[in-house]
Amino acid sequence: MKKIAVLGSTGSIGTQTLEIVRAYKEELEVVALAAGSSVAKMEEQIREFHPKVAVMWSEKAALDLKERVSDLPVEIACGMEGLLQIAVMPEMEILVTAIVGMIGIRPTIAAIEQGKTIALANKETLVTAGHIIMPLAKEKGVSILPVDSEHSAIFQSLQGFKRSELSRILLTASGGPFRGKSREELSVMNVEDALRHPNWSMGRKITIDSATLVNKGLEVMEAKWLFDADLDQIQVVVHPQSIIHSAVEYVDGGIIAQLGTPDMKLPIQYALFYPDRRPMDTKRVDLFELAQLTFEKPDMETFTGLKLAFEAARLGGSMPTVFNAANEKAVSLFLDRKIKFLEIPELIQASMEHHKKVDAPNVEEILQAEAETYEYIRQVVEKE
Ligand code: NDP
Ligand code: MG
Repeated sequence: MKKIAVLGSTGSIGTQTLEIVRAYKEELEVVALAAGSSVAKMEEQIREFHPKVAVMWSEKAALDLKERVSDLPVEIACGMEGLLQIAVMPEMEILVTAIVGMIGIRPTIAAIEQGKTIALANKETLVTAGHIIMPLAKEKGVSILPVDSEHSAIFQSLQGFKRSELSRILLTASGGPFRGKSREELSVMNVEDALRHPNWSMGRKITIDSATLVNKGLEVMEAKWLFDADLDQIQVVVHPQSIIHSAVEYVDGGIIAQLGTPDMKLPIQYALFYPDRRPMDTKRVDLFELAQLTFEKPDMETFTGLKLAFEAARLGGSMPTVFNAANEKAVSLFLDRKIKFLEIPELIQASMEHHKKVDAPNVEEILQAEAETYEYIRQVVEKE
């Protein structure tokens, strides 16, 4: 039995992780679950998967949950303390980090320190703290197994080859719901338009990130850390069918790619059973039905979020944190209909220009850069 814990169990990645556990009950055991405020969903999950510990972010939700499951032997905790308690549980072997946002940093670090394997969906963690997490994982001999589909594809394409033979990473992007649109057209797009992703069904925040191409920018930074690549080695390729999930080019020009239908369950399952593969009930790629796969260069002049991400990555230090924090705040303002779609990259740019970069920030400094960025955006938006 592999013993796993899922941070963000009620979300898109979290529920798909539990679907895999359901299909492989004899091999996977859930020892802990954590969520934000979805108490009813958490109660259902506890009744089905019997974790030893369940955590809700808010104290109120945790109290509510405690009452609902008082007939069961499950320990209920809350807040960061609860997340950290899960991260260091002695029996837990694999931590699935499927929370949204920078809140994932501290539990991920705590779990690595205890030698736990990380199945990493929470890309914001590597974007902001990759310089802390990757060396620590190396020191502790911990595997960071990517769950993000592109990074899983790259990871799968690297199996059996030497990392030193890699020359380029071809990071594919669907282009999101607004591919091919002009800035003028983008200026009038609303929340519903942006949430209509053509290929993937995901949580709200990452779906907006796909529409701005900020998601691809975060993924460039994630790839840089996971595969120890230079930014110049990472080429974003728009591939609207989302069948090639990414590829790697080797020094001799050979390209190895991973293909599949757009279904997150495959990369999640691959991480849970790595290095083995298990049968999976998913739609198969039918090349005859597809007939063609197409590719385009990303339009960074229209989708400036991607350009800003490369800039933040090149500057390094605390700048990726500012990029990410400004985006988190701007996306939540957009979802609350307080700002327009194109104000998302505008706020990111303004925040980056306003920030005084700190080199190699520690966790405190990362969280401080995040707080300062939030405060800066609050002031900018209030002034308008
Ligand atoms: P969702 O919004 O669907 O789910 C987020 C999960 O995190 C929910 O369970 C939510 O609980 C929980 N959560 C939120 N805040 C807290 C908190 N403070 N403490 C504890 N739990 C919290 O997100 P996704 O599943 O889409 O994304 C999760 C991560 O995976 C993101 O980093 C995203 O970028 C990445 N990712 C997602 C992909 C996808 O297909 N969805 C693909 C690749 C990467 P509650 O329900 O109570 O709010
Ligand atoms: Mg992805």
